[in-house]
Amino acid sequence: MAKPTMTLNGKLVEFDPGQTILEVATQNGVEIPTLCWLKDATPTGACRICLVEVKGARTLVASCAMPAGPGMEVSTDTPQVHTSRRLNIELLLASGNHNCLVCEKNGTCKLQALAYQYGISDIRFKGQTQQYATEDSNPLIVRDFSRCILCGRCVQACNEIQVNRAIGYGYRGAASKIVTSGDQPYHLSDCVFCGQCVEACPVGALTEKKAVGQGRSYELKQVRTTCPYCGVGCQMLLHVKAGKIVKVTAAQGPSNKGRLCVKGRFGYDFVHSPERLTTPLIKENGQFREASWEEALGLVAKKFKEVKKEHGPGAIAGLSSARTTNEENYLFQKLFRVGLGTNNVDHCARL
Ligand code: SF4
Ligand code: SF4
Ligand code: SF4
Repeated sequence: MAKPTMTLNGKLVEFDPGQTILEVATQNGVEIPTLCWLKDATPTGACRICLVEVKGARTLVASCAMPAGPGMEVSTDTPQVHTSRRLNIELLLASGNHNCLVCEKNGTCKLQALAYQYGISDIRFKGQTQQYATEDSNPLIVRDFSRCILCGRCVQACNEIQVNRAIGYGYRGAASKIVTSGDQPYHLSDCVFCGQCVEACPVGALTEKKAVGQGRSYELKQVRTTCPYCGVGCQMLLHVKAGKIVKVTAAQGPSNKGRLCVKGRFGYDFVHSPERLTTPLIKENGQFREASWEEALGLVAKKFKEVKKEHGPGAIAGLSSARTTNEENYLFQKLFRVGLGTNNVDHCARL
């Protein structure tokens, strides 16, 4: 059956029923700017940046939330659309304290990028909203409400992407704020510190605390890797400066689809810990001394043989690690079952 069609900037295009105007535009190479739209979450139409003209409609419509319809005539790049987007960007900038010089998001902020794209240098409106104090009382996430544009992406990320349901909209009008239950600080709320809200925030309202002051985005090298914590295999990006991890963000992977948990996102301190074991240690007379891998493994093999000879293979047990790969765990149980002759093998499936 033939697909329905609509007109996009004067060109006839096909679409699948259920697609939004934004999706149809994107698949046809037409860029419509967005702030609140979040992949894999229900569109909210909150920021009004993606407004487009639809012939016959009374007002401009939010393309992220409006389904495409057969015969629709959509224009994404008219003077009215531009004027409206500029006004909305200006209002968002006026709604808080947007001093980009000291903002962690400088260089990757979507609001800053839009202000640049639309040539906005002067803000005609001042002091539109109530200011809340920055929340800095937990070790992982800083919430700067003066930079929040109430786009709601953090709420979508928490409630729909991670399904933690820890935050929502609170209060009304100029006092509106993203709140936890009872408007408690994150560390006293249902928040599990997965950090998905930080990842979703398009501006500098939510920041990884350990990354503050550690480097601008253009100074950081991104290294894609697999989370070392458990067997799910989440894909992540290490943001590295001078050989040191500054922060971790999620990458799209088949098992995590852009998500991370608190361990993967924030638990990287061990990498640079001075207490980290980097060589095997052998205990002699109550004291540890450094040893080569050859010496240490030779000693373990010798002890296994002695225990097996004296007490039988049932006296030996092995506990493997969730941090190793499936293949390594397979080899581990093979070693114990076939090599040492015992079925006493287990695995710390949780960390
Ligand atoms: S949130 Fe964006 S626009 Fe606001 S100060 Fe930070 S970089 Fe600038
Ligand atoms: S850190 Fe995770 S649980 Fe906490 S508010 Fe953000 S998305 Fe929700
Ligand atoms: S904290 Fe960030 S993501 Fe959440 S509403 Fe404010 S600007 Fe949007």
